[in-house]
Amino acid sequence: MRVCVYCGASPGNDPRYAATARAFGAALARAGFGVVYGGGRVGLMGALADGALEAGGEVIGIIPRFLEEREVAHRGVDLHVVQSMHERKALMAEYADAFVALPGGFGTFEEFFEIVTWVQLGLADAPCVLANLDGYFDALLALIDGGRAKGFISAGNRAIVEAFPTIELVLARLTELRAQDGASL
Ligand code: AMP
Repeated sequence: MRVCVYCGASPGNDPRYAATARAFGAALARAGFGVVYGGGRVGLMGALADGALEAGGEVIGIIPRFLEEREVAHRGVDLHVVQSMHERKALMAEYADAFVALPGGFGTFEEFFEIVTWVQLGLADAPCVLANLDGYFDALLALIDGGRAKGFISAGNRAIVEAFPTIELVLARLTELRAQDGASL
């Protein structure tokens, strides 16, 4: 089973974010999950990949050619260089069985919500999990709950987005999903 992790190309302003991204990469690898991510060596993306590689895990990075320099393509991972952002997301979705967002910026939000909408439309069927470290996604979850309360998001679709406050709980959820659905994951 492979887990696609969306996260910041920036490190954030608290070193604990990068430390946690690295620890999450290592924990995924130790638990036998492959990692799919954006292929960069910068920010939380790089920390995640380094953690998984150090723990001996499979790491697939998918980066568009025009970002190879800007996001410093990680040469230590199984790197796929694609032509566009759309191709990047399509390939990430193809390779991964579950999707997790760690803290990040617009790119992280966009990528996470795209896969959520694919699940909503029945184009994909995969868990979508927010790692709500330090309450980073509280405001986003409030927005989602507002959308639900105001009738724009159905109860069934609200349930697509799961959130857990620590990487240990995210990992426990992924492990539970793998046990439930071993045949397809
Ligand atoms: P950010 O969360 O803004 O630091 O971005 C995290 C990652 O998302 C970076 O690798 C960005 O290149 C990537 N990203 C931003 N926008 C898109 C998009 N429309 N499609 C695919 N990846 C994106």
